[in-house]
Amino acid sequence: MAQKSNFEEIFSFLHGKFSNETEYLQAVHEVLEDIVPVYNANEQYKALDIVRRISMPERVIYFTVSWMNSEGRIEINQGWRVQHNSAMGPYKGGLRFHPTVNLSVLKFLAFEQCFKNALTGLPMGGGKGGSDFNPKGRTDRDIMLFCQAFMRELQRHIGANTDVPAGDINVGAREIGYLYGEYRRLNNKFEGVLTGKGLEFGGSYVRTEATGFGLIYFLEAVCKHRGSKIEGQTIVVSGAGNVALHAALKAVEKGGKVISLSNSRGLLLNEDGLTDTALKWAIDNHANRNNILADMADEDMGKWLPDKKPWHLKCDIALPCATQNELLEEDANTLLDSGCQMVLEGANMPCTNEAQARFLDVKIVYVPGKASNAGGVALSGLEMSQNAMFNQRDASTLDEQLYSIMESIHQRCLDEGKANDGDTKYVNYLKGANIAAFRRLADAMVAQGV
Ligand code: NDP
Repeated sequence: MAQKSNFEEIFSFLHGKFSNETEYLQAVHEVLEDIVPVYNANEQYKALDIVRRISMPERVIYFTVSWMNSEGRIEINQGWRVQHNSAMGPYKGGLRFHPTVNLSVLKFLAFEQCFKNALTGLPMGGGKGGSDFNPKGRTDRDIMLFCQAFMRELQRHIGANTDVPAGDINVGAREIGYLYGEYRRLNNKFEGVLTGKGLEFGGSYVRTEATGFGLIYFLEAVCKHRGSKIEGQTIVVSGAGNVALHAALKAVEKGGKVISLSNSRGLLLNEDGLTDTALKWAIDNHANRNNILADMADEDMGKWLPDKKPWHLKCDIALPCATQNELLEEDANTLLDSGCQMVLEGANMPCTNEAQARFLDVKIVYVPGKASNAGGVALSGLEMSQNAMFNQRDASTLDEQLYSIMESIHQRCLDEGKANDGDTKYVNYLKGANIAAFRRLADAMVAQGV
């Protein structure tokens, strides 16, 4: 029997242990393809079994959230915190409240988060957490009661120097406020234990905008490297939440023509391009509306197309900003057929491995979320440092810092993303991001011993 390669050996070990965790295995598989050759070439990494250790969470915390809703009925939800790797700093990563949340999804997000955080150059480890609680359609009071019950369990596992959660899908400023209030009451401590807080209680300017704005700063760096501009390019965006709306707004500010937004129920199309006024209206109102896109159509800001995704639209640039695995292989083919030249991920793992492979095969620009959406966690890192110093920097200073962090992540991807086939122009951003992040993480782990 042929001897197994290190890649096969490590992946089959993980597969054997976690065979039903498909999202987690998908994320690990994608990264292993790039990092195992670097591991094979480094005796210290091999001696300390770095790849297997980097792939597995240091700790997984599970708890039941039993809570009484505003009608006096008991509800029961599941809660998790995956503390993946702390070699570079406190565990750091968002909380997601969504009925699709399960351990596999959170393990994939926590694993990716470690690589993303390493790319920012800031001292942050990686983690992720959340619950299967669905806040859609719930009253404000129920959301507060759930957040308080969730924090009663989570609080014993987190701390400003231990683990610092933030928001993610369905966890925005309101939820962070309720979570923070409960932590403060229980611990009698005002400390930077969560990021994404309100400006009045330790929050940072630019945190809300950072993921979407950072995505466009990364796009600008890509365009500069290729000698082009965002101005005049047609852009499709999926999603209609925090990331999508701020990305769309910044893209329009840079002169791009953004023709779509989407959600789990359909698509908003505006072939003339959404205006900054329309996008600012959506940003101000989306948290309180059931379907902001249908409401935008009612306000003549575009056409509402139920059950449609944006990938059939002709565009130069696609920015998937909704959720994992939203862009499939057939969507990739449709985008390529219509001439799309760049795909930058605003969401985490929105492209399936098959879709990614199509983009890499034909060598269009493809940037994985761990590089292009790292602006959010980078600003969270800056919020942590402001909290530690009990100060608050101004918005323009933070925006400049965000810009420069995104440019440096771009440079890290260039440094490690050269093609092996002699093509000196092509940049494999996926490989660049994976390897640059891996080296930082692996070196930190080697330096700290087993
Ligand atoms: P929000 O909750 O603000 O918005 C999520 C959007 O995605 C909503 O419009 C939602 O539509 C849509 N969506 C959810 N599921 C689906 C689906 N199955 N098909 C189509 N659309 C869907 O989340 P964020 O904008 O904060 O997060 C979006 C992505 O970006 C996630 O992958 C997140 O992990 C990632 N991310 C977020 C960061 C942040 O700072 N917020 C940082 C880095 C990454 P609907 O309302 O119909 O459910």
